[in-house]
This record gives sequence, structure tokens and C-alpha cells, in this order.
Amino acid sequence: MGEVMVDLRGIHKSFGGNEVLRGVDLVVRTGEVVVVLGPSGSGKSTLLRAINHLEKVDRGLVAIDGELVGYRRSGDKLHELREREILKQRTHIGFVFQNFNLFPHLTVLENVTEAPVSARRQPVAEARARARALLARVGLADKGDAYPRQLSGGQQQRVAIARALALEPKVLLFDEPTSALDPELVGEVLDVVKDLAAGGTTMIVVTHEIGFAREVADTVVFLDGGVVVEQGPPGVVLDAPQHPRTRAFLSKVL
Ligand code: ADP
Ligand code: MG
Repeated sequence: MGEVMVDLRGIHKSFGGNEVLRGVDLVVRTGEVVVVLGPSGSGKSTLLRAINHLEKVDRGLVAIDGELVGYRRSGDKLHELREREILKQRTHIGFVFQNFNLFPHLTVLENVTEAPVSARRQPVAEARARARALLARVGLADKGDAYPRQLSGGQQQRVAIARALALEPKVLLFDEPTSALDPELVGEVLDVVKDLAAGGTTMIVVTHEIGFAREVADTVVFLDGGVVVEQGPPGVVLDAPQHPRTRAFLSKVL
């Protein structure tokens, strides 16, 4: 595995008096697949959202490829970036949501070309050609002209993955990408994620799919109560967990 791509240091986040992240450190290297497991409410979504500054943290820093997210350092002071600069940073961080979040009024092809054309000023013809290649990669070469509502959940999620890839992100974040799907559609989405993993895409995947984690993860992170309780290779964290809380969680989901 390569250089450090994502570097989280001492991340703290509260909502009101509820401290949801209580000092999270995490390093993800280029080409690494990190699967984050943890009970509902343990802070998994908040952590992903903190990485692309959708959630502003109270304490701690996030760096992607050596660049601070949301801040600029001058001397020993940190200045928050302007919204425009934050939006630009976000284009380097792909995000795939539980509920797909496709633009319902745009075709599949338009969903995939929207960001490259509007955020990157890619020529439309070039963006469309790339979008077609990405749709082929997720097995939807023939669906470019369809609207999201005409697709199954599994197909919509594969479009969402193609859309996230269109900006060639440095890291791809998945927040429970299959938990809104009917069971028979889970496999087709996980197969696409596996294919990306095999191709060296750097990813952080929040999921409850333990079989997928065992097969694809380089590192499994168990988050509970806003702290990383345990992390390591799947063969250790899933098959020989050291911490009683990891064992208790796994005994419920396996
Ligand atoms: P997970 O994804 O692991 O289920 P979340 O990160 O979504 O957990 O949430 C962790 C905790 O933070 C939960 O108690 C949730 O209610 C709370 N929380 C998340 N987002 C907000 C918010 N915007 N405002 C208030 N509380 C929030
Ligand atoms: Mg969540």
C-alpha cells in the first residue's frame, strides 16, 4: 500500500451535549480499503461527513493527500476556508449515500456528467464519453437515457457510484451503500465495490456486510461510542477480536 491518503487526527464532535466522536485517529493509505463497523449511533456517518467537511468538527484535523480539509494553515494559526474552496476540496472526495441521492429530474447520463461539467468545466462531449465508460464499468451501459425512478435500487446505487467516480476522487466514502436495498440487490452493488477495490481505489466503507468486509477490507475498524475500539486486518478483528465490545457486536451481526 502507498502513501498516506487520508489522515484523521483527534477528531471530536458533539451535537449539543452529545459527544458523538471522542478523539478518532485514522490513517488510510493509497489503495487501501477500510471497512468501518459499529452499532447504530456509534458515530460512523458523522465520521464520514467530517472527512469531507459536511460536518465541521469541534477539535482535530482531517488531511487528504497532505492537504487540510476545511482549513488553511498560516504560521501556527488555522483559518477556515471559504465555502468555494471547501466545495473544490469536496470534489476530490467521492461520497456514496445510503439512499443514492441521485438527481431525479436528470437522466442517468446527466447525473454522471453534472459535476464534471459544472464543477470541473469539462467539455460536455468529453464528460459524456467518460460517463458512458463509467456506466459500462458498473454494468449499466444501456441505461444512460433512463431516469432514476425507472431503475431498481441496485441500479440506482451503481449510478451513484459511477457519479462519484466521475470526478476521479482521491478517496471514495460509502455510508451503508446497501442497507436500503432489497436483499437480492445487495450483491450487484457489492460486486462493483469489490471491482473498485481490486482496481486500487482508496475507500472507506461503512457497512454491516461482514462477509464483504472479510473478503475486501485491508483494515477493519470497529467504532463504538465515538472511539475506535479496535482496528486491524479482517482476520484479526472479525475472527479473533481482542476487545469484548467488538465480540459482543459481532455476535449480534454474524
Ligand atoms: P451511525 O452512523 O453510527 O449510526 P451517526 O453518526 O449517524 O451514527 O450518529 C451518532 C449520534 O449523533 C446519534 O446519537 C445521532 O442521533 C447524533 N447525530 C447525528 N447527526 C446529528 C445532528 N445533525 N444533530 C444532532 N444529533 C446528531
Ligand atoms: Mg449512519
